[in-house]
Amino acid sequence: MLFILPRLCRQHLRTYVQSNIRQLTTGQPNVCIVGAGPAGFYTAQQILKGNPNAVVDIYEKLPVPFGLVRYGVAPDHPEVKNVINTFTQTASKDRCTFIGNVTIGKDISIADLQKAYSAVVLSYGADNDRLLGVPGENLKNVISARSFVGWYNGLPQDIDLQVNLDTDRAVIIGHGNVALDVARILLMPIDLLKKTDISQHSLDALSKSRIKEVTVIGRRGPLQVAFTIKELREMIRLPDCKPVLSEEDFIGVDKLIQDLPRPRRRLTELMYKTCMEPTEKDLKLWETAKKSWSLSFCMSPLEIFGDKYVTGLKLGINKLQGEDLVKQSAILTDQTVDMSCGLVLRSIGYKSLVIDPDIPFDTKSGTIPNKDSRVEGKTGMYCTGWVSTGPVGVILTTMNQAFETGKTVVKDINDGILDLTKHGRGDIFNILNSKGVQTVSFKDWGNIDQFEVKQGEDVGKPREKMVDISQMVAIKRLKHALPRTPKRRSATLAAYLQHTKSPAVEILRQAEVVSPPEDQMDMAIEKVALEDIKTAIGSCKTKRSKDSVTSMNVLVASISGEKVAETRCLKSLAKKLGLPILNENDAYDENNVHVYDYISDIVDVTLCNKEDNVHKISRLKKDCGECGIKKLELLPEETDDLDTAQIVRWERFEKEDIKVKGNKTIKKLVLVKKENQSCRTIFTFFRTFKIISATPA
Ligand SMILES: Cc1cc2nc3c(=O)[nH]c(=O)nc-3n(C[C@H](O)[C@H](O)[C@H](O)COP(=O)(O)OP(=O)(O)OC[C@H]3O[C@@H](n4cnc5c(N)ncnc54)[C@H](O)[C@@H]3O)c2cc1C
Repeated sequence: MLFILPRLCRQHLRTYVQSNIRQLTTGQPNVCIVGAGPAGFYTAQQILKGNPNAVVDIYEKLPVPFGLVRYGVAPDHPEVKNVINTFTQTASKDRCTFIGNVTIGKDISIADLQKAYSAVVLSYGADNDRLLGVPGENLKNVISARSFVGWYNGLPQDIDLQVNLDTDRAVIIGHGNVALDVARILLMPIDLLKKTDISQHSLDALSKSRIKEVTVIGRRGPLQVAFTIKELREMIRLPDCKPVLSEEDFIGVDKLIQDLPRPRRRLTELMYKTCMEPTEKDLKLWETAKKSWSLSFCMSPLEIFGDKYVTGLKLGINKLQGEDLVKQSAILTDQTVDMSCGLVLRSIGYKSLVIDPDIPFDTKSGTIPNKDSRVEGKTGMYCTGWVSTGPVGVILTTMNQAFETGKTVVKDINDGILDLTKHGRGDIFNILNSKGVQTVSFKDWGNIDQFEVKQGEDVGKPREKMVDISQMVAIKRLKHALPRTPKRRSATLAAYLQHTKSPAVEILRQAEVVSPPEDQMDMAIEKVALEDIKTAIGSCKTKRSKDSVTSMNVLVASISGEKVAETRCLKSLAKKLGLPILNENDAYDENNVHVYDYISDIVDVTLCNKEDNVHKISRLKKDCGECGIKKLELLPEETDDLDTAQIVRWERFEKEDIKVKGNKTIKKLVLVKKENQSCRTIFTFFRTFKIISATPA
């Protein structure tokens, strides 16, 4: 019988059966992971492998996965990013769900996760940086390497970083791999950078850079550097760039090399030879170099000079102390030296944040206290990756640790330590829906990925990353609303394009997901635009006059022509709208009001008539003298374009599940209170969607 059902029905049936079996099955471990970086994905991989029933949900604050693999690893290291293939395999498994655009600690609390899941694994990395704690650190052009890396890698929060590259010399403080990544990006020929996935805004800035000299300063000596041989070799071979190492720093080092452990020995040897015994080939290569970089040892910054912008640093000279050569510590002497520069990049380590008060946190080490990944004092809570170890090691180190974490979770499941009666993500999605959070699935990420690759192809790059979160989410939303067949999808979008200059649609067009306008308008896509506008308007109903709330509601209604079926709700809705609610033939009386069938009927009596079946653009401009729209008053936060815009509280009608007798649930239209940050969207949407003049009635 099953085989004669259409494919779609079979699919629905399968999903239905699977989800119901999942609910009925007792003892299914529901695990959630916070953070979709390497630690999160490797832990998920291990749990899925170790327990055939486990279901793993990975929450990520950005709409896109992969953490520092996408936003940390240098653009000229594409081979390192191959781990993404493994993560993609994990995320594509039936029992694994990526839930992007959800910030744990803000959208969802740890307590919510603990209620819903048998185990909560924290792998949210280290999103903050350490400070030098010296005077002048707040001067302009003193920047954290973390933000600089985010800037060139297109991390949305860092794209507006103010970096002034109109200077001869940059100083980088720190002797780790991040410091060398940053030095390399500053000095690399622009033609090489152009072929990487470096973000366009930083490529533009770097192509105008005047930086000729980069000094990389560390508090200890050549035997204690934290960078690795690969990064050092890349610096030595950088085209048109000469290494400058002081012979003084390497006197006697050759005698110590043999006793060093192997990786350290090879690294020190390379530094030593570059300084003391460069080959003919190297010398020839460096002879004509127009740029240079140097390593300075045993120096600690004491002060950063400058008026508004940094002009230099005062550095204290250190001496080394301790038996074990590799572990010697730096002791400050009373000698100092001044160094001039126009850019300082602080690269002294990343630090984790406290994202939720329910997570124990050691502020000194900047990590979550744990034993074998089990968070101290919290059964069912685990941590892994940089949030548990601090910002040390490479992806391989993180992988090994995350595998151990995964095994620990599986062991605790098998040992009966975890509560397996938890129901998983259902309640979490209810919370997210009530807050209006738009989640991004792994399939949505696939659309973003496809778009980025296409954008990159056009300019000879592996990808051009999207840097605007709202555009990433918009791409997902538009794609969702599209018809399934390519031809129809193309026609729909094409038609939509005729009516809008929405950035999201423009992006889709550039990515050739849509073809030039040719066909008719499709209402599916209309709905998407409408949802945007409703959300935007919904976010604005606060602290405003009754009249302007009314105007906004009427505006939405005028666009949607929504039918309000429930008479009971209609009455309260009309009352809420502040409109006369009269029964036919009755004189106006507050207690005796008319019940309209459609909100659009209310619109018709409130706003002026449509012309040629299209609403007047003058309403959008708020200068229509004939209708209620002119009463629309905008608050400063509604026109604010900044991310810092205040939280705005508002209300809207939503259908909610209400329990009635006999444990049944019915849908009821209720007024719910919400809150959002900033209302910047309202004007953007009105402007870009030109909704009033464009929408057919
Ligand atoms: C600049 C730089 C370059 C590097 N280059 C290399 C390299 O070339 N090779 C190499 O092997 N290693 C490299 N590494 C190291 C490697 O990136 C790390 O070992 C690894 O990324 C650590 O993984 P993680 O999952 O602990 O953290 P992350 O990769 O930082 O992942 C954490 C994830 O959690 C998310 N998150 C944060 N807060 C929340 C929240 N509240 N709610 C939900 N999600 C949240 C973040 O957005 C992020 O996606 C580099 C590191 C840096 C900083």
